[in-house]
Amino acid sequence: MTKVPNSANKKPPQLLDQFGRHVDYIRLSITDRCDFRCVYCMGDEMTFLPRDEVLSLEECARLVKVFVRLGVTKVRITGGEPLVRKNSLRLFEEIGKLKNLKELVLTTNGSQLENQAQGLKNAGVKRINISLDSLDAARFKTITRTGELDKVLRGIQAAKLAGFDNIKLNTVLMRDFNDDETVSLVDFAIQQAIDISFIEEMPLGDVSHTRESTFVSNADTLNLLKSKYPLTASTVTTGGPARYWRVADTQTKIGFISPHSHNFCESCNRVRISCKGELYLCLGQEDKVDLMPLLRTHPHDDQPLIQAIMDSMAIKPKGHDFDLRRTEPAVIRFMSHTGG
Ligand code: SAM
Ligand code: SF4
Repeated sequence: MTKVPNSANKKPPQLLDQFGRHVDYIRLSITDRCDFRCVYCMGDEMTFLPRDEVLSLEECARLVKVFVRLGVTKVRITGGEPLVRKNSLRLFEEIGKLKNLKELVLTTNGSQLENQAQGLKNAGVKRINISLDSLDAARFKTITRTGELDKVLRGIQAAKLAGFDNIKLNTVLMRDFNDDETVSLVDFAIQQAIDISFIEEMPLGDVSHTRESTFVSNADTLNLLKSKYPLTASTVTTGGPARYWRVADTQTKIGFISPHSHNFCESCNRVRISCKGELYLCLGQEDKVDLMPLLRTHPHDDQPLIQAIMDSMAIKPKGHDFDLRRTEPAVIRFMSHTGG
């Protein structure tokens, strides 16, 4: 059920789905391309979309403006690697100016931050998530296939200097790849006075290993960390899947994003837009509405777009359906397409 924006009704419009969940957060993927090829995210060989099938930066900005008109207050820009998209800073600057937007945030692999962190901060990016799966350069290369650890570490320093409200590392733990680095990654986060979240690997896209063979449960990770650090449950909530713990006497919080062991769908407040303009109502399901044709056939009229977005609330699924034992991926598309 959706409240239709009405000029007689002064309340800002809201996107409400059939389960009463209020959608006020969008994640927008601005490219499917990336300078890394992380083993859990991409296959050995990837084909990327032709340029004209990807939203232009102007289309990205238009979409964000429409969602903000519909009551969205938080936007995360992601990808692929958002910062490898040419002129992406212009988009951040444009979105950063939107009055009713409370939070503009970014997820990045950190490879471009050394040069871009200050510009992003100046554009209005409040918080930044940086993926980091290993502190060992050779291993980092194995996991990312192409990444340089040093460059990312310099990017983290640049982000700290730029003065974001919050910096968080994102780590996907994989058995026999990096699960023995759990404690050293947390030590690093503590030393840097930043946060860290552990994300359980999700079965998105067909990769070169079986997901079951590398799966590390966040419940086990939490037990390990509880034996090493004084942790207290934090009340911080993003309305999303993460649960946080504070490490006593430090500035660090540890988050756990556990789609397998913790079903977070009942409080889901978000939708995702792929770099092709597909509005995905759930990361783990195929339900979507294609917004690109509406953007392109109505370049000067937002009404059809607004209507399609409001109508989409009726098909937001109750929850995801991840199951590690399945041999085929739960969802065929890669996370780099939908945006993490
Ligand atoms: N390239 C940027 C980065 O790596 O941060 C942004 C896009 S990436 C798709 C966003 C997040 O999704 C990253 O933190 C990455 O670790 C995570 N991710 C990608 N594929 C995943 C998967 N199959 N399961 C769990 N997390 C995944
Ligand atoms: Fe690129 Fe991010 Fe996917 Fe790694 S997780 S391949 S950095 S999009």
